[in-house]
Amino acid sequence: MKELAFMLMLLSFFQPVSQPATTKVIAHRGAWKNTNVPENSIAALQHAIALKCYGSEFDVHMSVDSVPFVLHDHSIQGILIEKTTAAELSKMKLSNGEPLPTLESYLLAGKDQTQTRLILEIKTSQISKERSLALTKKCVDLVNKTGVASITDYIAFDFDVCLEVKKLAPRAHVQYLSSDKAPEQLAAAGLDGFDYHYSVLKKNESWLADAHRLKLSTNAWTVNDEETMRWLIDRKADMITTNEPEKLIELLRK
Ligand code: MG
Repeated sequence: MKELAFMLMLLSFFQPVSQPATTKVIAHRGAWKNTNVPENSIAALQHAIALKCYGSEFDVHMSVDSVPFVLHDHSIQGILIEKTTAAELSKMKLSNGEPLPTLESYLLAGKDQTQTRLILEIKTSQISKERSLALTKKCVDLVNKTGVASITDYIAFDFDVCLEVKKLAPRAHVQYLSSDKAPEQLAAAGLDGFDYHYSVLKKNESWLADAHRLKLSTNAWTVNDEETMRWLIDRKADMITTNEPEKLIELLRK
C-alpha cells in the first residue's frame, strides 16, 4: 500500500503541468481607475502595492527651480509645472486632497516594500533638451538618495534621456517608449528593452520575438481590453501596462 502511494506521488511529480503565464502587471499611473483615487497620487501607488502589481508607473516633470513633481500632464489646474516654483506647486492639491506629490515624497511612499517596482517615466520637457536631461539627473539622484534604486526602473519617450539614464546609472533597467526604433537598435544602444504602444506591436509582429532573442524586456501600453491582453500574453510579452490591473491579474490567474 505504501509502495502504491509512493508510486502515485512519483507519477504526480512527473505529470506535465501547464506553463504559468509569465506576463507581469504594471499599473499605469498607479491603480486609480477602480479605486476612485486620482492617477499618479500616492494613494494610487499604495493601491497598486496592495494589489501586488509587479510595477506601478508614474510620470515626472520638473518645476522652474528644478524640483521634480509627479503628474501626467504638463500643467495642473492651468498652471504649467515647468514655469512654476516648487513652493507654489507644493500648495496644489489633487482631487483626493493629497498635495501634488514631489518625486521625493512619491519614492519614499513606495520605499518600504520590494514586491512592486517603481516605474519612473521621465517626461520630455516642453522647453528644452537641456531641461529633459537635467530632470533625468535629478531623478537618478533622488532615486539614489531615497534608497530605492534596487526597485526602480525607468521609461522615457526621449531616446537621449534613456541613454542618459544608462550613463548615470548603468545598472538601471531602462525601456524606450517611442516606437520608432526596432529591437536591434535598442540593443545596439545598450538599452534594456521597449515599452511600446500595443498597436505598434500588432503592426510589427516580429518585434516581441526579436526582442526576446536579443534579451530585451518587452512591455506594452496602455492595454485595457481583454482581447489585447490575451494577444500579448500569448506572445509572451514580459509586462503589460494597464489602467485595469485588477482585470489583468484576474486574467493571468485563469
Ligand atoms: Mg506615463
